[in-house]
Amino acid sequence: MPPTRAALPDAVAGSLSLACLIHCLALPVAVATVPAMAQWFVMPESLHMILFALALPVSSLALWRGQSRHERAYPASVGAAGLALMAAGLIIHDWETPLTVAGALLLAWAHLANWLARKADCPG
Ligand SMILES: [Zn+2]
Repeated sequence: MPPTRAALPDAVAGSLSLACLIHCLALPVAVATVPAMAQWFVMPESLHMILFALALPVSSLALWRGQSRHERAYPASVGAAGLALMAAGLIIHDWETPLTVAGALLLAWAHLANWLARKADCPG
């Protein structure tokens, strides 16, 4: 089912956080299991920066619009916490993966909650 126009920013931002979870969690496992895969999955060092730069405006738009529409503050609060953790992961390199994974999970949760809240308030 393709996302409706109102759901599109949530779908895009949710997909970006999922892309980062796959990059941070599944890819190292895949490369460790089948080392030959490493040459097929060359990820730029700047991937987190790129994902964050894309997620920040899309997430902000989706969560801000959601909050003004359905007047529930928690998806935006959870999303802001997720974006803050992802930003911290870009700065604190020793903690990059755990901070980014935690941030991406919070962000995915925020967009799911935002989407569910909009669906509950505006059926159809
Ligand atoms: Zn990642």
